[in-house]
Amino acid sequence: MFIVGKKMTEKKKLRPATQLVHSGTTRSQFGETSEALYLTQGYIYESSESAQARFLGEEEGFIYSRYANPTVDMLEKRMCELEGAEDARATASGMAAVTAALMCQVQAGDHVVAARALFGSCRWVVEKLMPKYGIETTLVDGTDLKNWEHAIRPNTKMMFLESPTNPTLEVIDIAGVAALANQIGAKLVVDNVFATPLYQKPLELGAHIVVYSTTKHVDGQGRCLGGMILSDKEWIDEHLHDYYRHTGPSMSPFNAWTMLKGMETLSLRVDQQTRSAGAVADYLAEHSAVSRVIYPGRADHPQADIVAKQMKAGSTLVAFELKRGQQAAFKFQNALDVINISNNLGDSKSLITHPATTTHKNLAEEDRAELGITEGTVRISIGIEDVDDILEDLEQALQNI
Ligand SMILES: *Cc1c(COP(=O)(O)O)cnc(C)c1O
Repeated sequence: MFIVGKKMTEKKKLRPATQLVHSGTTRSQFGETSEALYLTQGYIYESSESAQARFLGEEEGFIYSRYANPTVDMLEKRMCELEGAEDARATASGMAAVTAALMCQVQAGDHVVAARALFGSCRWVVEKLMPKYGIETTLVDGTDLKNWEHAIRPNTKMMFLESPTNPTLEVIDIAGVAALANQIGAKLVVDNVFATPLYQKPLELGAHIVVYSTTKHVDGQGRCLGGMILSDKEWIDEHLHDYYRHTGPSMSPFNAWTMLKGMETLSLRVDQQTRSAGAVADYLAEHSAVSRVIYPGRADHPQADIVAKQMKAGSTLVAFELKRGQQAAFKFQNALDVINISNNLGDSKSLITHPATTTHKNLAEEDRAELGITEGTVRISIGIEDVDDILEDLEQALQNI
């Protein structure tokens, strides 16, 4: 990543909503208002000497868009400012970010402890991919710090969690796990997708690396896939820099441009979505067809004390359980008009999914039960529609069952 023509460090520290609009922007000779889309693979050098100097790292400038690109660079800088991270790398998807962040820092013989409540593909990477390369992995119920402590081995090098989790919105004590990791010199990686960089700051809580699927709230309008890895400069230089350059999970400049425009409205959308999600959670908690509502923002959340400690606000997602299982869940989903059936999340549109038959269908039934996913569990990602239209849609669909 190269710093081109912008002196961010000399500037006053701005508040998040301002950072989302301005941070990281570099302008071409035309002084364009909106960030330029540099859809280019390569870069022309003024001379052979300049090419040589750039390859030696003695001259600033871009070399090849697998390494870095001016549009992608703007997005990385904007995310760094928002997160309070020293450095970042944008990736083609959230899974490219997770895989690179995990794989770049371990080797055969190392041991990894991860929370068992992980996004499906993340769990596959930990449970199936890493052991293929001689990396030992242990999955624990991450909500109890004792489980992390008991899982530690002499060769434990890394810990990994997401919080709140998908789909049951469990919350894990990030500072507690970070303290355990620090005791043994291991690194903690946090997948911060559900909380967004606005509501939870894993680096401030002691985590070493933060990863995102920017596909979710950062784009937020259902267009492009993307991911981001953020950490301190030392870790990126030592572990990620070469891995990223040579394995090529880079984000397309077009997607980075889309994400930059998405970031401008991130706080507007996420604040609105979270307010509506809170109202939806409260509404569902009172409904006779619903046996359980899980929302990190309600006093009855199982880890309400940790939510209060580490999150600035609730979530844009609500999980709940319908009393009459899959049949009721299907009937309910099919009756919805405004809310669409889709496994995506963080979108402007409200989206609903039935995890047991979609995102979590590949888990064994007992693994699903461990995660609290029942036949009646549904997860809604609340959009930016008028909250009354969302509530009325839920009302008519619940009447249907
Ligand atoms: C979506 C998601 C991912 C994967 O991101 P993609 O952009 O779909 O590759 C990883 N972790 C969490 C928590 C997610 O929600």
